[in-house]
Amino acid sequence: METATGEEITIVCNHCDRDIPSPNIDLHRVHCARNLEKCKICGDMVPKKHAEEHFLNTHAPIACSMCQETIEREIFDSHKGEICPKRIVTCEFCEFPLPAVDLAEHQEVCGNRTELCYQCNSYVRLRERYNHETKCPGTVLNNVESSRYIYSYLHCVIFETLLNLYILAKLILWNG
Ligand SMILES: [Zn+2]
Ligand SMILES: [Zn+2]
Ligand SMILES: [Zn+2]
Ligand SMILES: [Zn+2]
Ligand SMILES: [Zn+2]
Repeated sequence: METATGEEITIVCNHCDRDIPSPNIDLHRVHCARNLEKCKICGDMVPKKHAEEHFLNTHAPIACSMCQETIEREIFDSHKGEICPKRIVTCEFCEFPLPAVDLAEHQEVCGNRTELCYQCNSYVRLRERYNHETKCPGTVLNNVESSRYIYSYLHCVIFETLLNLYILAKLILWNG
């Protein structure tokens, strides 16, 4: 059916609210009522046999595979990236990957390890390394070569090595 101007006459289907060319409307209504239903959440017309699939894929909360919690879809991305306690982060001192929930406790221990600062020849805790860089007394001690200095230096190396081994052992036991 066409109007005098050649426009197609359409009728709105009361089931899906779409404009349907009038010659097809009867057939469409039968098909539409039998096969499609309106999603109560987003209002899309969804094939009845795929309604559950549509809900699960589009609206249902998501089970986080890391923490096993069920998370609303709208906040899932931020959950995965910033909130999930089981998301994997890396220790700023040893770069070991571990769950976020364990990070603070791990870094507490890990940051107690020391590293030799070649500028001032003293051992600096990893957690203070950044601070130390700005106030390091510099190369003064590098020029001191008295036996007394070397003795205390060696003493220091052995002590610090043992201390670091101890902390590492503690971390390994704790992660296992
Ligand atoms: Zn329809
Ligand atoms: Zn929907
Ligand atoms: Zn999670
Ligand atoms: Zn660490
Ligand atoms: Zn230094």
